[in-house]
Amino acid sequence: MESFSLPPKVSFARYRLRPPLIKPSKIYEMGGWVINFAIGCTFGCRFCYVDSIHKKFSRARIGDVVMRDWGYYFLIPENIDDAIKMTEWRRWRGKEVMMSSTHDAYLPQLHMWARKILEAALPAGVRINILTRSPLVERDFDLLERYKESVSVSVSIATMEEKLSRVIEPRVASPLRRLEIVSRAKERGLSTGVHIAPIFPPNRLREDLDRDLEKIAEKLSEVRPDDISAEALHVRGINMSYLEQAMGERLRLDYFEEKAREALTRAMKKYSLNFSWS
Ligand code: SF4
Repeated sequence: MESFSLPPKVSFARYRLRPPLIKPSKIYEMGGWVINFAIGCTFGCRFCYVDSIHKKFSRARIGDVVMRDWGYYFLIPENIDDAIKMTEWRRWRGKEVMMSSTHDAYLPQLHMWARKILEAALPAGVRINILTRSPLVERDFDLLERYKESVSVSVSIATMEEKLSRVIEPRVASPLRRLEIVSRAKERGLSTGVHIAPIFPPNRLREDLDRDLEKIAEKLSEVRPDDISAEALHVRGINMSYLEQAMGERLRLDYFEEKAREALTRAMKKYSLNFSWS
C-alpha cells in the first residue's frame, strides 16, 4: 500500500470498497454513472455538499469519523486493486461515467489509483468524464491521449478573485492554474470542459459579481473549452454553515440564482461564448 502525506489534522482510515467500481450516482439531480474510490476529500472546499451525504449515509458503515468537519476525514479502500480486477468494465462499454462525484480523483493521495482505474476502464470502451481541480491529472495525459475519443477533462472554477478562492477552496490550485489544465488538455487534442461553479453572491471578498464573471468569460475566450456549464451557489446539506464560518459573513441567496444567470449571460455574450445552466 502506497504511503502519502495528508494536510494537518486530517483523520485517516481505510474501508472496504464494494465492487464494482462503477455505480449509479445518488447525488441530487446528477444521475448517470460514477466512479468514487474514497470517502472524504482532502481538498475540503467550504461550499462542497458531499459532507452531508457521508454524515447521513456512511456513518453506520464507516463509523463516527465522518462526523468530523469536511476536509478533516479521509478514508481510502484497502481493496482497491481487487475492486479494479473485480469490476467487469465491459458492462459499461460506451456508457458515460464521471470520475469522480464525491471526491477529487486527482487528490495527491489518490492520483496513482485514478491512473490504474483508467488503464482498466478505457481499453474496455468505458467513456470517462474527469472532473477535477487538480493539476495532477496532467500526469495522465499520455494515457488519455491514446483514448481521446472516450475521454473528457473538465475543471471547476467558482471565481477569478484570488482572495475569495483562497477562503472557499483553500487547498486547491489557483483558478488560473486550473484553466491552464484545460489549455494543456486541448493542446493534447482532448475534449475539455469548464464548470463555472458555484457562483457566489456579492460578498466582502468579492463585491462585484459582474466584474468577476466578466474576468471568467475573458479567460474562457482565450482557453475556448469545448463545453461550458454553470451553476449558482445553493444551500445543500450543511455547506452554508461551513462557508459562512470561513467567510465570516452571512450570504444572501434570495433570488440569486436568476441574478447570477443573467449576469453570466451578459458576460458570456460579450465574448461570444455559449454555456448551459444547471
Ligand atoms: S474537490 Fe470537489 S469533492 Fe473535493 S471538496 Fe472540493 S468540491 Fe468537494
